[in-house]
Amino acid sequence: MDLATPLQYVKGIGPARAQVLAAKGLETVLDLLYYAPFRYEDRTNLKRIDQLAPGEKAVVIARVSSSKMAGFRRRALGLFEVRFRDDSRATLEARWFHGERYSESLIPDRRVALFGKVELNRSTGTLLMVQPEVEILSDDEREDEMLHTGKIVAVYEAAGKISTRVFRKLMAHVLNEAPMPHDALPQSVRNRRQLPDLATAIRRVHAPEPGIDLRQLNEFRTPEQVRLIFDEFFWLECGLALKKTKARAATGISFPITERIREQIKAMLPFKPTGAQRRVMQEIADDMKQPHPMNRLLQGDVGSGKTIVAAQAAVIAIENGYQVAVLAPTEILAAQHYLYFKRLLEKLNYVVAPLTGSSTPREKQQIKRMIAGGMIHVVVGTHALIQEDVAFSNLGLAIVDEQHRFGVRQRLELMRKGEQPDVLVMTATPIPRTLAMTIYGDLDVSTIDELPPGRRPILTKHVQETAVEGVYSFVAQEIAKGRQAYVVYPVVDESETEAVKAAEKMFLHLSEKVFPQISVGLLHGKLPAEQKETAMRDFQNGRTKILVATTVIEVGVDVPNASVMVIEQAERFGLAQIHQLRGRVGRGPYQSYCVLVTGKLNDVARERIRTLVESADGFYIAEMDMKLRGPGEFFGTKQSGIPGLRLADLIRDSEVLETARAEARRLVEEKDSSELHSVVHYIQEHWQRKYGLVQVG
Ligand code: ADP
Ligand code: MG
Repeated sequence: MDLATPLQYVKGIGPARAQVLAAKGLETVLDLLYYAPFRYEDRTNLKRIDQLAPGEKAVVIARVSSSKMAGFRRRALGLFEVRFRDDSRATLEARWFHGERYSESLIPDRRVALFGKVELNRSTGTLLMVQPEVEILSDDEREDEMLHTGKIVAVYEAAGKISTRVFRKLMAHVLNEAPMPHDALPQSVRNRRQLPDLATAIRRVHAPEPGIDLRQLNEFRTPEQVRLIFDEFFWLECGLALKKTKARAATGISFPITERIREQIKAMLPFKPTGAQRRVMQEIADDMKQPHPMNRLLQGDVGSGKTIVAAQAAVIAIENGYQVAVLAPTEILAAQHYLYFKRLLEKLNYVVAPLTGSSTPREKQQIKRMIAGGMIHVVVGTHALIQEDVAFSNLGLAIVDEQHRFGVRQRLELMRKGEQPDVLVMTATPIPRTLAMTIYGDLDVSTIDELPPGRRPILTKHVQETAVEGVYSFVAQEIAKGRQAYVVYPVVDESETEAVKAAEKMFLHLSEKVFPQISVGLLHGKLPAEQKETAMRDFQNGRTKILVATTVIEVGVDVPNASVMVIEQAERFGLAQIHQLRGRVGRGPYQSYCVLVTGKLNDVARERIRTLVESADGFYIAEMDMKLRGPGEFFGTKQSGIPGLRLADLIRDSEVLETARAEARRLVEEKDSSELHSVVHYIQEHWQRKYGLVQVG
């Protein structure tokens, strides 16, 4: 057996189990070694029944003497009662609610290990365990007991029918038979961070030393666990740092800033930039001046004014004789950006053109010809832009909005349309720091942390759906004052017909029953592009007063006259998502409101809603959202390029991430060390498989 042996050939696995394991991403012996327990249990307190005392937690090995489903009235609970006896001849009772699943396995004479808290059954005077953990033991294998009881045992997440018990057995076997992986972590790093060697770490994560602190173990803070977590982050960060260094070293375009460019920018700006906008603008300008490609992430809360910063970068590129591409995730947003850039840049006599899937073939053809001929300075579009037949005469700057909807590949495709163009990625969602360090680790980050002056805070209120009539009359009042309102309906997946139907039904209800006198529009992802545009335009110029929409309006929509955002079934949205939606109002001079309508809430949901009502800080909300939903769900999609971390947890292990990143950078910056050489080699071999999408160029 070696590390590359497919699991199918490992004793006790076979083809069927191998398939189940493969579905969990476990294919080789090496994968299995890295399949860490998710918690640990102290089973050192192994006792005979006659030694047990009420109140203690203990492990007992005993045989079933009798069992029954308890009487008529308790049937609803499926109460299953079993009596056990061991060598001491004393009796222990155990009860499981919903215990039907045990009725076939816990038959008389079956030998089991029970783990749980001991109580006293006051009516019978016998000792009792309620809902103990139970493991069926084979008849007299001593080895079994050695593995599963009498010590601190590892608990693995089950895979299909492969229980934690089976995993424990497999691990014991593999740890005995397989060689340990080569420890590629540089010695200097290990010394500096006092990390144990890899083999020891792997062994002890599966089989903790006797006497180890259980709490530390369950918090994943033993040196051995930290070592494995560190590894995952370290290799990821090394890869990102190398990628970044490589990109930085490439030859790119240098865009010097002349006095004339400063004048042009001044002429374009419709208002005085905030301090934060000026600062990030400087960062971007400095970066664009370098003769290397820029790879920069521009982040800032909703409404912080990222677009104008991007427009300034565009001016720098254009004045240097280059073209600019602006890539947006949706047709609606592309249309918005197009209008915004056009308004700003036509003052400077630049030519701005749209290119989206909904342009007619003729229009497309003409625009493509003009792009290729260099007659268009700025083209704004959706992924129609990255299609093969779009050729630029001289692309110098690519601005990508709402990056997480595209993923890394599209970014690369756009870059290929020019000779190492500069890239500015804008994201509408503030990204928790740990996530930014992993997903966008190869980008430099500029953050706008200040809102333009004069913004009135949006008042956010939580209303139970039973009181929704009150919300509707408030909406009617605002409309009477000349304002407009959004009513957003949760559609989890825009491609789901059922969900969109529900939104349509809501639209009919509101337009016919609730607001018969008011013009109501409908906007959702399944509408044909043309209708989407009409719906958006009608709302923008005030022909419709209420826009019933799904989350397609989440990003970028800018209608300053809208002052109310009603979010139905708000408990079904992520926090960051609601914050984005809320950012659609309060864009003009009017006091604006966000109303979160929910059904009955449990404690967690109430906490979530309260976070939104009390905080307007997108970064704080994003952190909370990530904590509540997990990093994978944070972006609403699993394919957003979040590297596959196995043991490491971005929330729990943020400190380990910081140190791993510091070490990775240090190593990559000390260019000529031989350690770096072997690190590069290791990454080339392991990166793709481990971290999926993220590639070292
Ligand atoms: P976001 O960061 O959400 O993309 P936008 O770029 O859409 O924000 O800007 C939000 C609104 O604030 C826009 O209407 C924009 O014109 C306005 N704005 C941006 N910066 C300033 C500023 N410095 N002063 C006044 N208004 C500004
Ligand atoms: Mg925006």
